[in-house]
Amino acid sequence: MSEIVLFKHLIDPEVRNIENYIKLGGYEGLKKAFTMQPDDIIEEVKRSNLRGRGGAGFPTGLKWSFMPKGEGQKYFVCNADEGEPGTFKDRYIMSENPHQLIEGMVIGGYAMGATVGYIYIRGEFEFVAKILQKAIDEAYEKGFLGKNILNSGFDFDLYVHLGAGAYVCGEETGLINSLEGKPGQPRLKPPFPAQYGVFGKPTTVNNVETIACVPDIIKKGADWFLSIGPEKNNGTKIYAVSGHVNNPGVFELPMGTPLREIIYEHAGGIVGGKKLKAVIPGGSSAPVLGPEHLDIPMDFDSLKKVGSMLGSGAIIVMSEDTCMVEAFTRLAKFYAHESCGQCTPCREGTAWLYKILKRIEDREGKKGDIDLILDICGKIMGRTICPLGDAAVMCIKPAVERFRDEFEYHIEHKKCMVENKIPIF
Ligand code: NAD
Repeated sequence: MSEIVLFKHLIDPEVRNIENYIKLGGYEGLKKAFTMQPDDIIEEVKRSNLRGRGGAGFPTGLKWSFMPKGEGQKYFVCNADEGEPGTFKDRYIMSENPHQLIEGMVIGGYAMGATVGYIYIRGEFEFVAKILQKAIDEAYEKGFLGKNILNSGFDFDLYVHLGAGAYVCGEETGLINSLEGKPGQPRLKPPFPAQYGVFGKPTTVNNVETIACVPDIIKKGADWFLSIGPEKNNGTKIYAVSGHVNNPGVFELPMGTPLREIIYEHAGGIVGGKKLKAVIPGGSSAPVLGPEHLDIPMDFDSLKKVGSMLGSGAIIVMSEDTCMVEAFTRLAKFYAHESCGQCTPCREGTAWLYKILKRIEDREGKKGDIDLILDICGKIMGRTICPLGDAAVMCIKPAVERFRDEFEYHIEHKKCMVENKIPIF
C-alpha cells in the first residue's frame, strides 16, 4: 500500500474520534509547530512543494507568505465548498478524518498570525458539518482550540459556516462575500484575499485537502513530503473516480500515478469490459482527454503539458457507450444554472451554449450550430470576473472539437450515433 497521508481512517476507521486520532500521532504536528517560529513553518511548507488541491495548484507556502506580518485581525478560511461535478474527495477527509483538517487549520493560523478560522462548507454537506462540529467541540475540550492553545500563548477560534448550495461560492472571493452575508458573487482580483479578504482583513483561503496535508509535513518534515510524487508535484493526491467504472470511489495515491493505473487497477476498469472513449481528468472544467492519454502521470505539470489540468483530481470516465452530446449538454446546463449573473459574457454565454447544445441533443440542431458554439466560447473566455465562464468553455469547447463528428451526426441525421447509450450524469 502506498503512503497514507490523509485517509487515516484506512488505518483506524474510528480516527474521527479525537482519542483515536491522538493515538495515531494526531496533534503532534501542532505541538512541533509551537516549538517553531511562524516564519519557519511557512518556509517548511514552501520547501515541501505543497500545491493547492482545490484545482489551481498554487504553491501553498507562497500563498501563506503573502499575509502581512504583525498585529491586526487576520483570517484563515478553509474552502470546503466542494462543488465541481465529479469532485467528492474533501467530504471524505472531513467526515472520516476531521481532526487532521482542524490541526492543519490551527498550524496555518499560528504560522500566518490568524486568530479566527472558518470552514466554509457547502450546504448539501450538512451531515459532514455535524461531524466537523463534533470534532471541533472535542478539540476545544482538549485545549487544541480556543485561548492559549497548549500554553503557547496563541488563540484560535474555529467556526463551521454552511453555504446555501451555490457552486460559485467555491470561488474564493464569492466564498468571502457569502461568508460576510452578501450574495455569493466573486470580486475582482487583485486585490487578492491576503490584501483584502474577509471583512476587508487579510485572509488566506485554502482547500480542505491542502490544509489536511500540513500536520504531517510539519511533523515529519518537508523532505519526507518531497520523497512522495514527482518533482514540483509532491505528496499524495486523492483521486475521485466516477462514471463508467466498476469500482467508483476515492483513492489516495502518490501524485503522478498514471491514469491507466487509477482507472484499471484502483477503479476496477470499465463497466462491461467496454472500451474507454473519453476521460475528464480534473473535474468538469478540465479539457476532456482520450484513450491515447492513458499513460499520463496524474499531476499538475503533466496534465498541463497535454492541454488539460489536474484540477481537483476528479476523474470522470466515459465508455464507448457515452453520447457526448448528451454528456456535455448536461454539463452546459450545470454552468448556465450556476452562473451568478454578474458578468454578461458568462450569464448570457453559458445560457446560450446550453440552449444550442440542448437543441442539438433534441434533434433540432441547425447547420452552423457547431461553429456558433465555438464562436460563443471565444467570446466568454477571459472576459469575466471569475473563472466560471472560462471553466464552461474549457469543458465544452474541447469536447465539441474532439467529438465534432458526433455533434454533426446529431444535426444531420437527427439521431444519436451511439446505440444503447449509457447516461453518464
Ligand atoms: P487561481 O489560479 O486564480 O488562484 C489560485 C489561488 O492562488 C487563489 O487562492 C489565488 O488567490 C492565489 N493567487 C493566484 N495568483 C496570485 C497572485 N498573483 N497573488 C496572490 N495570490 C494569488 O485559481 P482559482 O480561481 O482560485 O481556482 C481555479 C481552480 O479551481 C480550477 O483549477 C478549478 O478546477 C478549480 N475548481 C475546483 C472546484 C472544487 O470543487 N474543488 C470547483 C470549481 C473550480
